[in-house]
Amino acid sequence: MAGDGGARWGAAHGSTTGTAELGPGEQPTRGPQAWVPLSDVDITDVEVSYVEAALKAGWVSGTAPSVGLFEERLSERLQRNHSVAVSSGTAALELVLRALSIGPGDDVIVPALTFAAPATSVLAVGARPVLADVAPESWTLSAADVARRLTGRTRAIIAVDVVGHPADYDSLATFGLPIIEDAAEAHGCRYKGRPAGSLGDASVLSFHANKPVTTGEGGSISTDSESLAARMRLIAHHGMHPERPYVMEVVGRNFRMPNLAAALGLGQLDRWDHLIAARNRVSSLYSTLLDDSLCGHRPVARWAEYGCWLHTVTVDRREGVLRRVRACGVDARAIWPPLAEQPIIRDDVDAFPVARDISRRAMWLPTYAGLTDEEVEHVADIVAAAVEAESRP
Ligand SMILES: *Cc1c(COP(=O)(O)O)cnc(C)c1O
Repeated sequence: MAGDGGARWGAAHGSTTGTAELGPGEQPTRGPQAWVPLSDVDITDVEVSYVEAALKAGWVSGTAPSVGLFEERLSERLQRNHSVAVSSGTAALELVLRALSIGPGDDVIVPALTFAAPATSVLAVGARPVLADVAPESWTLSAADVARRLTGRTRAIIAVDVVGHPADYDSLATFGLPIIEDAAEAHGCRYKGRPAGSLGDASVLSFHANKPVTTGEGGSISTDSESLAARMRLIAHHGMHPERPYVMEVVGRNFRMPNLAAALGLGQLDRWDHLIAARNRVSSLYSTLLDDSLCGHRPVARWAEYGCWLHTVTVDRREGVLRRVRACGVDARAIWPPLAEQPIIRDDVDAFPVARDISRRAMWLPTYAGLTDEEVEHVADIVAAAVEAESRP
């Protein structure tokens, strides 16, 4: 079943062509000559039966049984003691920060190359995001640069597993600070054999429609700390005393994942290995088809096992390449702008040269479980032709 993994995301992110112009419920015509979206969901009868059962039982809210089951099965999958399901990856980040009592006067290290949610979450709790550059061999936090940015006010490090690649957790652990792993886009990767989602003191996943495993909208935090898990549950459920209804212990939020989303997630959990393997298959096919003389590929450090989210390449004259590729009906996109240039941050972009250069050269190619080999070949041909055309004087 195809759906809004690409279409809605395109609309929300201001895409001006292709699926973004489709109405609700409309689907792009599939096949090699049609618009190839950046992203798409992979939903089967497995997911439908979980959701149908939940609906027929009337289990729809955030306090119904599929949520607890989803949390248990996620903990098993990630080899953690506790998981808390919430309404989004962004809510998950804010929840961890609140549970760690991080707020005004505190600094939190955030990589200079990432989707902005880690930085906006830090700002949302009144703390200050302090950017650190990424390392060229992994595109994740450089421990050497983190060392330069630490202050007496630094309370935690948010390490992002950037586009499906783990950060170097052993190096980051030497600072002795709590590590929040943002594995929102990295469900399938591993660090020295351990899965993403098990690598931080608290580890965040997103289940947004464009992520490798989806609940529509949703997120989670996994941890081995019982006290941290209890505090997160308290805050995520209005701050309400678990045994004394309507008694508010702390300033809480309602960050609960609805049961219908958790039911969809149970189906995706059943199919987790397939969903990850299918993306990795697409990614390795792109790597084979697009020769290193045409474009660079996202590097993989020797201690990492890659779990592809979106296949990422680097090219010269990226804007020209993108214009040509998109004109041929392929929804390739530029990676995020440098965090330092975001209006909410306004730092000196040249102080983070590795992140700056990746932001200016990297682009994503359509990547999702249901993409056929023929479609990947079609996209690769178009990208190769665009790169060659742009490189002509
Ligand atoms: C997607 C993403 C998020 C946010 O997750 P949502 O579920 O969309 O709120 C946070 N961090 C990173 C690195 C992401 O890719």
